[in-house]
Amino acid sequence: GSLIAYAEANAYNDSKNHVAHADAVTSNGAHWTALSEVVPKKKKVVLLGTGWAGMSFLKNLNNPTYEVEVVSPRNFFVFTPLLPSVTCGKVEARSIVEPIRNIIRKKNVDISFTEAECLKIDPENKKIYCRATLNTNSNVEEFAVDFDYLIIAVGAQVNTFNTPGVKENCHFLKEIDDAQKIRKNVIESFEKASLPNLSDEERKKILHFVIVGGGPTGVEFAAELHDFVNEDVVKLYPMVRAYVKITLLEATDHILNMFDKRITNFAEHKFGREGIDVKLGSMVTEISKNEISTKERGNGKTTSTPYGMVLWSTGIGPRPLIKEFMKQIGQGNRRALATDEWLRVEGLDNIYALGDCATINQRKVMEDISEIFKKADTDNSGTLTVKEFQEIIDDICERYPQVELYLKSKQVRNIVDFLKEAQGDAAKESIELNIEEFKSALSQADSQMKNLPATAQVANQQGAYLAKCFNRMEECEKNPEGPTRIRGTGRHRFHPFSYRHLGQFAPLGGEQTAAQLPGDWVSIGHSEQWLWYSVYASKQVSWRTRALVVSDWVRRFIFGRDTSGI
Ligand code: FAD
Repeated sequence: GSLIAYAEANAYNDSKNHVAHADAVTSNGAHWTALSEVVPKKKKVVLLGTGWAGMSFLKNLNNPTYEVEVVSPRNFFVFTPLLPSVTCGKVEARSIVEPIRNIIRKKNVDISFTEAECLKIDPENKKIYCRATLNTNSNVEEFAVDFDYLIIAVGAQVNTFNTPGVKENCHFLKEIDDAQKIRKNVIESFEKASLPNLSDEERKKILHFVIVGGGPTGVEFAAELHDFVNEDVVKLYPMVRAYVKITLLEATDHILNMFDKRITNFAEHKFGREGIDVKLGSMVTEISKNEISTKERGNGKTTSTPYGMVLWSTGIGPRPLIKEFMKQIGQGNRRALATDEWLRVEGLDNIYALGDCATINQRKVMEDISEIFKKADTDNSGTLTVKEFQEIIDDICERYPQVELYLKSKQVRNIVDFLKEAQGDAAKESIELNIEEFKSALSQADSQMKNLPATAQVANQQGAYLAKCFNRMEECEKNPEGPTRIRGTGRHRFHPFSYRHLGQFAPLGGEQTAAQLPGDWVSIGHSEQWLWYSVYASKQVSWRTRALVVSDWVRRFIFGRDTSGI
């Protein structure tokens, strides 16, 4: 018989076994079943941002069951801790950036990159709306992208506190372009001041460098500039050296507030000795084209001083996209998007936020802790025995490692003392401790616990943590027995994010650095500068940038900085 007449086809999917069946019966009754493997649809992950958090997520993601689309207005990662080194030519700009495509091409995961800015997030329809950064002269520059999971890692922007004239007249140090502009401007200032027929006053004005903000970035830039003047300007522009002035304005009582007092004192004295004019309690009220106006916090005295260049480095605030999204989801006017301890935006299970644009809402943790104590206090006496206390604290520390970190930190020494006292004597096991007393001690730590610092260290660890969760997501869904969770009932698939502080550096110039390592270990000097070099070389994201950065350092040691105005 003929096979041609007709074929009644019937196709269906056996989704459980990921197999498609196609049954066909021909006119002569022959029956075939064709089986073909159907690849299950990959879950689409959209990642916003190619900074510290985004890069770390991409580097650590290794589960090929996802399709990842990275959306960011810049197609490279910037090693921000070395941005101040770019401003005076210690390191070249290209040495501290890594193309994001270099990072994703090495992965076994399906990752694509789109150079665009996300303008709006629509959580209900699982869509984001974007605009391409590059002009294509067509109408395809605005487009939408669907997602199953969205990871927001867009960082933050400079905060001007709406001070008049800041946007128009100041330099910022946030992006690689900023650092390049500063470098060009610094060199041009020396060339300008070297022109003939200028008065002394004009030279002084041109070479007056003002830094607003005594945080790590402002202090490091002041130190870089001072080194540049001492090491290179003296040789290359000896005739204008005497006109150079560096002023550092800080609104609070000390610079480097987030560091140990010993570092703050050392930095203030060092800068004072070296002629960097550190003005504490000095608030900038306005910056015009030629003058910077300040008000002293103590006596309200106002001063206007001519300047040549101002670097504004007073902290960060949320980007417009995040401000708008917070309004949309009822988070109001916060500093950053609130997430839970698993980095999920509060109330939205498939949207994550990390790095500078997010903050873990620790208030909930405090509420959970209160709840545990309430449950344990079965007789409502407001007290528990030392043993019971100890068990609860061990339990909390296991579930919330960040609490353990803060219990051990200097800021909450009173809690540690409290516990030591309780632990001191085995006989005290029967002594009852007051829960409220403990909670009030813990609440002092609350403000510390609320916000992790906006640093690369936090963003990097959060990116790695989230990638590990994504790597294990499927496996954990199949085997749901995860760590116990406090909020609600049952268990959670993953341990909450816990931050491990590895210490921080403050380079102070003259090949001296202050290092503050965990356990309140503080050390300042030349050997710490070598520690700084080795840590920053080892933390580079690729062997390419590592080689470039180290060769820049060597080049500067041998030949000095490159002062060409390009
Ligand atoms: P970022 O690294 O800022 O990355 C944000 C990314 O999002 C960028 O790729 C950006 O282009 C992209 N993006 C922005 N808007 C959108 C949008 N609408 N849609 C999509 N993508 C978007 N930290 C330390 O720990 N140690 C240091 O020594 C240190 N030094 C620093 C020095 C300087 C000069 C600066 C500026 C910062 C320094 N930091 C340091 C802080 C550190 O850089 C930040 O905490 C870190 O970059 C935060 O990482 P992030 O991924 O959240 O944001």
